[in-house]
Amino acid sequence: MIPFDLSLSEVPGLPAHAARTLAKEGVKTVAEVVWHLPFRHEDRRQMEALAFQAGPLPSCHHVLVTKTGNKFFGRRSGMFEAVVQHAGALLGQQLTLRWWNMPFMSRVIAEGQELIVYGVIKETKGCLSMAHPEYEIVKGGADEDAEQIHTGRITPVYRLRGAMTQKALRVAAWHVFQALPESFIEDLLPTPSAEGEFAGLTRSKALREAHFPASMEKLEQARRYLALEEFFGYQLRVARRKRRVIESGGREQRGTGELLRDFFNELPFQLTPAQQRCLEEIHRDMACGAPMNRLLHGDVGSGKTVVAFAAMLRAVESGRQAVLMAPTQILAEQHARNARKWLEPLGLRVALRTGNKREDGDDFELMRGKLSAGKPEIVIGTHALLHDAELMHNTGIVVIDEQHKFGVAQRAKLIRQGDTPDVLVMTATPIPRTLTLTVYGDLDVSTIDQKPRDGVKIVTKVRPKSKLKDAAKFLRGQIDEGRQGYIVYPLIDESEKLDAGAATKGHEEWSKLLAPREVGLLHGRLSAEEKEDVMKRLRDGRLDALVSTTVIEVGIDVPNATVMFIHDAGRFGLAQLHQLRGRIGRGAHSSYCVLFVEDKDEENRQRLAIMEETSDGFQIAEEDLRRRGPGDVLGHAQSGQAPLRFGELLADTRLVRLARQLAEKTLDEDPQLQRPALAPFRDETLMAEKAQAMMQ
Ligand code: ADP
Ligand code: MG
Repeated sequence: MIPFDLSLSEVPGLPAHAARTLAKEGVKTVAEVVWHLPFRHEDRRQMEALAFQAGPLPSCHHVLVTKTGNKFFGRRSGMFEAVVQHAGALLGQQLTLRWWNMPFMSRVIAEGQELIVYGVIKETKGCLSMAHPEYEIVKGGADEDAEQIHTGRITPVYRLRGAMTQKALRVAAWHVFQALPESFIEDLLPTPSAEGEFAGLTRSKALREAHFPASMEKLEQARRYLALEEFFGYQLRVARRKRRVIESGGREQRGTGELLRDFFNELPFQLTPAQQRCLEEIHRDMACGAPMNRLLHGDVGSGKTVVAFAAMLRAVESGRQAVLMAPTQILAEQHARNARKWLEPLGLRVALRTGNKREDGDDFELMRGKLSAGKPEIVIGTHALLHDAELMHNTGIVVIDEQHKFGVAQRAKLIRQGDTPDVLVMTATPIPRTLTLTVYGDLDVSTIDQKPRDGVKIVTKVRPKSKLKDAAKFLRGQIDEGRQGYIVYPLIDESEKLDAGAATKGHEEWSKLLAPREVGLLHGRLSAEEKEDVMKRLRDGRLDALVSTTVIEVGIDVPNATVMFIHDAGRFGLAQLHQLRGRIGRGAHSSYCVLFVEDKDEENRQRLAIMEETSDGFQIAEEDLRRRGPGDVLGHAQSGQAPLRFGELLADTRLVRLARQLAEKTLDEDPQLQRPALAPFRDETLMAEKAQAMMQ
């Protein structure tokens, strides 16, 4: 038996040059090779029988090089060509491999070599060619290896970095697994691990099959097993943290009901049944001894804010302070305005705290002065709150708006600052149901699945850019009827400067198109003061239209705005477009959203068609998930999420649920995680938190 941390140079049979190549990139031990999992496999079992065929998908062939040569076009440009036919030459077909501007290829590829090539085959005038194929020299190259490793099997393909080569990694992995005994690593999952589809599988077997599988079925089973392990680790941390929060105290907040009664009496509308249900769930959590950790999940416009205020009032009724944290200054101000309108008449003090002293400075200093007279019952702010323990006093509840803009770590910090307050997280990003358990594993979820005014429709159209003039005419008509509109420009290259530039240029154009109507401009490079001024003019109706970047994305509420044009809509994800569109259709008037795409951009036209069909955020989220896969969807939904190797399997609810069950089972049986394989999980913080803490 060889030890897991044995140096590669000591693995029997492993060629020294392969070990040296890998060592250069820091892969030095048996364990590092075992954990460098292939990202795909090629079925090289019967390649000789596979004819070359042009088509859109890449294919893989075992070929013999029959001729090579460089061609030059002028001084700077050239092409290296290798003509090949199938190794074994059962088929007489020819294929030309081409590499542009890589003349050194003539020193790598030579006549008589056997290669494995992988790429897309094209046909031009009856000739078949493959441009810049992935290739490996399997015979006749500088270093020749046993044929059984690279061909005639389901072959692993690895991600490479620096000097690594496929061959070196594969040869190393091959010899490592030859040398390792059948069982070489302790199982991570509790035993009997997972029955059913994983019966008989162990961690050792799964790792072995993940590199050199006996069949495609075995490979799939191994990948699912390793995914289960990965999800198990995540769920273990989440479940552990959740238990810890519950054990750490909390208090019962029952309240008298007086403030809430007055609040509802004053409110110009009645809560929808969905809002009521969510509020009951929240109040029930608050009344019970363990701290609340709940997500209030609802589409844009579903009316989360009132529900949050009602939750905050319950804390105030119970003699405690309520804190609301928003992701941007504009939103914090908007919440503060609502709070003053709705809560000050109830006799409550509302304090606003954002990063911009000039904005709320006076107010804030005033607040500070009043602190001796009594702390504010309601504190609203941005992440600047995190630096102000002084303001936070006997906090009963912390509400975090638009959670995806905050990291998990910030959330944890805010919670730590109070003493185990109840926490309510609000998000307007509809997460497909299959993913909630993963994304919000440590939160209980309340979903507002109904909108207050189902009557207002948003008509959405995807249109080519060339129709802009017609759209402008339509907007002029709406403005002349007293409405307002948004014109949105996408983020370019993630650069605020360019981004602001595109919007500034757009502002000039639209000012002309809409003249003499008033057009405002909003982008990320304006000062907070300028931003607030623009927003105020829009709210007061002094602006007819607003040209903006995506800074208007979340939460802004101007009910009179009924038109939204989105330029280059193809650059946005569906979920983001849905968020943007949520800025209109908030008043009594019908609303219109036009998504502009390039004139011949069929792909985006099709992709965006779902936006024309539905304004249900959950349906759009499911579509997004179907198209992009959970890895990407999650990346957007929660920035603090550590990347998962098997992220694409996250949509498999059964697997995630099983992981959750195994995690709970583990914590019941072994709360201190004494089992050696669990050592990496003893530290309670999530990897995501650590990563963020390091960046701060
Ligand atoms: P979001 O969930 O997107 O944060 P808001 O809380 O901003 O939604 O609510 C959207 C709008 O709907 C606000 O103007 C709010 O006052 C209004 N609203 C909320 N609940 C109701 C209701 N039950 N009936 C009528 N209007 C409501
Ligand atoms: Mg909101």
